[in-house]
Amino acid sequence: MDVHFLDLKKVYKELKSEFDHLWYEVNEDSSYILGDKLSKFEQEFAQYLGVKHVIGVGDGFDALVLSIKAMDIKAGDEVIVPAHTFIASWLAVSEAGATPVPVEVDSKTCLIDPLKIEKAITSRTKAIMPVHLYGRVCDMRQIIEIANRHNLKIIEDSAQAHGAVDLITGKKAGTFGDCSGFSFYPGKNLGCFGDGGCISTNDSALAEKIKLLRNYGSPVRYEHKIKGVNSRLDELQAGVLSIKLKHLDSWNEKRRAVAKIYLSELAGIGDIILPEYDAGHVWHIFAIRTSRRDVLKEFLGKNGVGAIIHYPKPIHMQEAYKDMNITQGSFVNTEKICSSVLSLPMHPYLQEKEAAYCAGIIKKFFA
Ligand SMILES: *Cc1c(COP(=O)(O)O)cnc(C)c1O
Repeated sequence: MDVHFLDLKKVYKELKSEFDHLWYEVNEDSSYILGDKLSKFEQEFAQYLGVKHVIGVGDGFDALVLSIKAMDIKAGDEVIVPAHTFIASWLAVSEAGATPVPVEVDSKTCLIDPLKIEKAITSRTKAIMPVHLYGRVCDMRQIIEIANRHNLKIIEDSAQAHGAVDLITGKKAGTFGDCSGFSFYPGKNLGCFGDGGCISTNDSALAEKIKLLRNYGSPVRYEHKIKGVNSRLDELQAGVLSIKLKHLDSWNEKRRAVAKIYLSELAGIGDIILPEYDAGHVWHIFAIRTSRRDVLKEFLGKNGVGAIIHYPKPIHMQEAYKDMNITQGSFVNTEKICSSVLSLPMHPYLQEKEAAYCAGIIKKFFA
């Protein structure tokens, strides 16, 4: 049996008639940029999340960069980021001219450790960027308390957490901070047919500024109030997202069902550390940990199972950030996670028997 890590073709096939109709509609209308489809999706996603504003942008990276720029965070300022994340979180801070300041993650959740944030705060710190990595919401109660105490902004990175819920407050990822960036990269829980992203916020002034920034600083054609960029979610992508948003909750439920199979099948196998079950988790990634990661990955591959590593090399060990002079051993949890983490196939169309097959191969490996 071949079990792919992701299967995007199934989604396309299931909703093909709607996508075909969308293609026809957009071309008939031939309004491709900043049209009705974008406004419609922005309203729908805002309503889904429970926020006042959603602003569509070019991709998830831009969503973070424009959020930071809209807050006037710039060269000389610091933004606290988790040591373990996808590098885009750090790069967005760098792109805005500011300095990412990494904070160690919790060894159990792999999310930023709120208890370690305060020590990293300096007089230059302007914001905290919690990343809801793998689809699980960070401990926002503690993070908000720290941010309030130090008068810091919060920019959530919700690129992996569309629809994820915080069990204590019942609120969704992307509704806690001053604003939040989402990515609609095809493989995300809500993805379009190319690059796409958005920012969610309850701050109307911030929303207005981001709308200017994404469109050359222009409130009306050929009037330019600020120095903006070009980063817009186009009509086709917005239309795709409106079609797919209706299915997001049921797709996340299916991911939870797959997670439950892995959790029950793999409990107590070898030296595997399983992720904690959390009813609000949307399982963008199902990441197990084992000291025999590399050989297990190879064994899975030989047996037709596509497993991927998120992420194999800590950001502080990447050449791109060698200027920060962070030595190996500075973030023990992050380094340990990067050397032991392995993501199993996970998508809404993964069948029960496929998940069971993956688990079976893993059991065979450790037997
Ligand atoms: C995907 C991702 C991003 C960047 O999104 P793009 O749309 O690929 O630019 C940022 N942060 C995290 C945590 C991500 O997983």
